[in-house]
Amino acid sequence: MKNNKYLYLITILYFVLGIINIHFALIGMICMIIPIILLFKNRKKTWCQGYCPRASLYSNSGKVTSKYSLKVPLSFVKGKIKWIVLAYFVLSLTIIIKSTIMVSLDKAIPVDYLKFLLIFPLEGIPQLLHFKVAPWLLHLSYRFYSLMMTTTILGLILSLVYKPRTWCTVCPIATISDVYIKGSKGN
Ligand code: SF4
Repeated sequence: MKNNKYLYLITILYFVLGIINIHFALIGMICMIIPIILLFKNRKKTWCQGYCPRASLYSNSGKVTSKYSLKVPLSFVKGKIKWIVLAYFVLSLTIIIKSTIMVSLDKAIPVDYLKFLLIFPLEGIPQLLHFKVAPWLLHLSYRFYSLMMTTTILGLILSLVYKPRTWCTVCPIATISDVYIKGSKGN
């Protein structure tokens, strides 16, 4: 199955919705939950093979520089990079969950701006719609949007430098899926 070439519009819509109101960022959790559900159900990478909006984005962005794209380094395909990216992903999720709990318990103040790669603060994004919700939800939304933004930017850079879907060689969803599929075949 091939990804629909217009699925990338969902990724763009996601980031636009975050500008309308940051709480829409939580919709992005669907892109983590559905791949895992499909993986358990089908024991293959159904999401990656047919439904991933990000893969569609990279396939399209990669076309811009396809003439000059470099060969994907072996360290991406077979090396440690995918484990480093997975570690970053797990660390990010742990920090997101822990800090959100701290905010909900009034033991930390909500972070209401974006961060690139966990530590580099960015200017806040414009908010076209304002509504008041619990501070922990605001915090969770900014943290989750930051994670999605960081990994999308990294994937875009890789798609422009190397082959369009280079990110897929190190994507945490792919790494988790590979481990699960390998394990389930052994059973
Ligand atoms: S590896 Fe990641 S980016 Fe690539 S198709 Fe799968 S979920 Fe999407």
